[in-house]
Amino acid sequence: MRRGIIFVVSAPSGTGKSTICKGLLASVEGLRRSVSCTTRPPRPGEEQGESYHFLPREEFLRRAAGGFFLEHAEYGGHLYGTPAGPVREMLEAGTDVLMDIDIQGAAHLRASIDTWVRESLADIFIMPPSTAELARRLRGRGTESEERVAARLARATEVMRHWGEYRYLVVS
Ligand code: 5GP
Repeated sequence: MRRGIIFVVSAPSGTGKSTICKGLLASVEGLRRSVSCTTRPPRPGEEQGESYHFLPREEFLRRAAGGFFLEHAEYGGHLYGTPAGPVREMLEAGTDVLMDIDIQGAAHLRASIDTWVRESLADIFIMPPSTAELARRLRGRGTESEERVAARLARATEVMRHWGEYRYLVVS
């Protein structure tokens, strides 16, 4: 039987990654999302177990120590991790899995000691057409100060240095 593929999608903020992922999940039959665990608090409208499994830090660390996660990383002061069990089950059932994870998570999966993870991996980086366009989009939200926009742009530039580590590149 055909095994599923892990589609890892990473991007700097402002590239429309969430919109692309939502669109893929709605239009590609048989594609399922991996629901991560995180220690960050839920944002308005985010449901427990749907957007994320929201966990206290101690519980997250306990699970990490027990090998619960396929990969985990710290981002913006919060912990994020991909539970291994559901991913393994979906792949074995021939279901493709979409993971919206950061550059550290993608690097951990590429270097996974589990052969089945490395062999199932299709990693995709989403790039904005230019830094100027990215700046325009980040500013376009109009909700943040110029200082915050500059900080996000600096972070995005740092993230974009990693595009060459990915097998696929999409300019959006
Ligand atoms: P947010 O807090 O905005 O939902 O996500 C922040 C960042 O964490 C995003 O870049 C997202 O891709 C990343 N992220 C979400 N879940 C995971 C995960 O399970 N592992 C890793 N490494 N990163 C994740």
